[in-house]
Amino acid sequence: MNDIISKNVKSIEISGIRKFYNKVAEVPNALSLTLGQPDFKVPHKIKEAMIRAINEDKTVYTSNAGIVELRKEICSYLGKMDIKYAPEEVCITIGGSEALLSVFTALLNPGDKVLVFTPVYPAYESCVKILGGVVLDSPLKSDFTLDLDKLENTLKAEKPKVMVLSFPSNPTGAILTKEDCDRLYEIVKSSDTIIISDEMYSSLCFEEEYFSIAQHSDLLDRIIYVNGFSKMFSMTGLRLGYVCAQEKFMKEILKVHQYNVSCAPSISQYGALEGLKTCMDDVEFMKTEFIRRRDYVYSRLKNMGIEVNMPRGAFYIFPSIKKFHMTSQEFCERLLLEQKVAVVPGSAFGKEGEGYVRISYCYSMDVLEQCLNRIESFINTI
Ligand code: PLP
Repeated sequence: MNDIISKNVKSIEISGIRKFYNKVAEVPNALSLTLGQPDFKVPHKIKEAMIRAINEDKTVYTSNAGIVELRKEICSYLGKMDIKYAPEEVCITIGGSEALLSVFTALLNPGDKVLVFTPVYPAYESCVKILGGVVLDSPLKSDFTLDLDKLENTLKAEKPKVMVLSFPSNPTGAILTKEDCDRLYEIVKSSDTIIISDEMYSSLCFEEEYFSIAQHSDLLDRIIYVNGFSKMFSMTGLRLGYVCAQEKFMKEILKVHQYNVSCAPSISQYGALEGLKTCMDDVEFMKTEFIRRRDYVYSRLKNMGIEVNMPRGAFYIFPSIKKFHMTSQEFCERLLLEQKVAVVPGSAFGKEGEGYVRISYCYSMDVLEQCLNRIESFINTI
């Protein structure tokens, strides 16, 4: 009876982020900075649109790819960032999570190589392993940007079938700069590798201009673009994401999506449609607030003498704890037990994450202040 469960599924674990979040419940009065759930409410107009959709009985299956009004609106939103897709190249999914698994399922055969740059959001590795693919880890530089010299060599030597880009980054807050984007374009142009670009935090880039490899239209026959509304409209529980790809990919992704989920929730689709039409001010407000919190958390950590890169997007910060000579797991467990604050061990984001912790700063200033006071007390005792 040893093989009643798939070997591939057996080989993966539930995410280290959730594991640590679950530990918090066991410690009375603990504060948690573990999840990527913003503390903002869903914008009012989105809520109203969803209530309207319920009252108008828009509670039936939508087309597999999602309602065409939303797909059109996504195309015009992406167009403003110079990313050009047509509505038939968009499929609305159940969060970014379903988009990712559907894409990997459509692409991978057992043994196919997938290049990921670590520390990284852990789902990519798990999706690839479920499908019997092989993950090639490539370390990011110490400022968490891409090591482009190394990438050039890896693409030539390893010829991975797929590579995953993930900027703005969870867990590091790094973004793709113009210089990196330009050089990346030159490097990937001469390879056959398919690029999955997960831009779940594109609306939370703190720089003036946004750069994405998907802005290079001549590469779109090799790019699969993933994004979603969980973070943008603070609607994580409404489970809405999307994937964009040209027809040769999309027709296969749609098969996986159809047999897995049929379609994304109709009510959430009407909510996101309203969001894209009328709630961009709410998104700007949240971004401004995250910048304020980012500045606060960064300066507190710096004042504690902690080595840390300034995040330029998303709502995570990834300080180094190497000087305390503990594993990230030990550091986080002690911090939780001794000072009742939960942050995520860097090891949850791959081997290169060891020596760091991820602090999510999408919590209120009040909670952040209390947590940083406790972190400071903890550091003073070790
Ligand atoms: N991609 C990245 C980089 C993420 O951080 C997340 C969620 O935290 C996802 C994808 C999944 O998003 P969703 O909650 O919409 O499934």
